[in-house]
Amino acid sequence: MKTEHSTQCTRCLMDNTVPGIRFDTDGVCSYCRIQERLEHMFPMGEEGRHILENIADKIRRSGKGRPYDCVVGVSGGRDTSYCLYYAKEKMGLRPLAVHFDNGWDSDVAKTNLARVCSGLDVDLHTIIMDWPDSRELTNCTIRACVPYIDLTDDIGIASALYRTAAKEGVRYILLSHSFREEGITPLAWNYMDARYTRSLIRRFAKTELKHFQNTDIHHFLYWILVKRISVVNITNYYNDVGEHVEKMLQERFGWVDTGQHHMDNELFALVYYYARHKFGFDWRIVELSAKVRSGVLTREQGEAALKETPYFENEELVDYCLKKQGMSREEFTAILNAPNKYFTDYPSYYSLLRRFRLVFKALCRLHVLPAHAYEKYFEAV
Ligand SMILES: [Zn+2]
Repeated sequence: MKTEHSTQCTRCLMDNTVPGIRFDTDGVCSYCRIQERLEHMFPMGEEGRHILENIADKIRRSGKGRPYDCVVGVSGGRDTSYCLYYAKEKMGLRPLAVHFDNGWDSDVAKTNLARVCSGLDVDLHTIIMDWPDSRELTNCTIRACVPYIDLTDDIGIASALYRTAAKEGVRYILLSHSFREEGITPLAWNYMDARYTRSLIRRFAKTELKHFQNTDIHHFLYWILVKRISVVNITNYYNDVGEHVEKMLQERFGWVDTGQHHMDNELFALVYYYARHKFGFDWRIVELSAKVRSGVLTREQGEAALKETPYFENEELVDYCLKKQGMSREEFTAILNAPNKYFTDYPSYYSLLRRFRLVFKALCRLHVLPAHAYEKYFEAV
């Protein structure tokens, strides 16, 4: 229920500019209420540890006789590095680290990744996307005038994790997305599915994508039903909010802190800049709001952080990204000035997903699909 005077949530930093946001009579936004429900659903502390022990038992049993019992997606960033450490040392699992590189890995991310994997004695499997394909897919999303322009990463990571798990006979994929630390991104800002991706490629690609493999519904059905692969967000049950994570990673592995979320992927400078200049939203609001809700930051600290000039407001950095993308400033500026579009302006599977939302919900609750994908796709919209 949206009241007339609510422009900003009384608890977090989100306001009326966030697509689909609703405010209740206390002026608290739908994202805060979703986080409350998720906190209840995914307890930490003693209860969380107990749940993780049961999950670890299941994973260990499923992997008997095989070299690995789970795959963990890693980027060299704080969340995935901590997740890998937690899986190996706290849960006693035998993970295979899987990394997807779309050509934008920063040097510090590569160093961090190598240090954490060797420090934990975990094998690392890296899948590198064909660079001309990666560049063209990103350019398609920019030309489509939609808010999110890094589909290569989202599709590539999912594909890399499932395909590696299927090949290795591993039944568990561990994810490290944390609603407490990273929040839930509004669906309109970064929606993706295979049909949507295909439609952007058909409409906007200027060169052929020769090696790109889409991940379609039939792939997921095969991985889920035939290979019986499940996705578990173990991060939901342990505390990865706050600086104790960075401190441990630095001391134990010599991990280097860039001080910026997503700085493991240099394309994010362009992702953030583009969203702010074309759509007028600041991506940082999602994570800062989550940190305010989790109590890591006060609302005032969150607001002050949001007012600071972000690292991506750097024209040289934008030039560097555009040059690498092979896109001229003129074309980019014309796109920034063109009418804004959303995924709903293109063909996608969203209406199909909505029809099967209860099946989707059950699969999320059963840890078959990522735990809070249901909230993201159907509640926060
Ligand atoms: Zn809120």
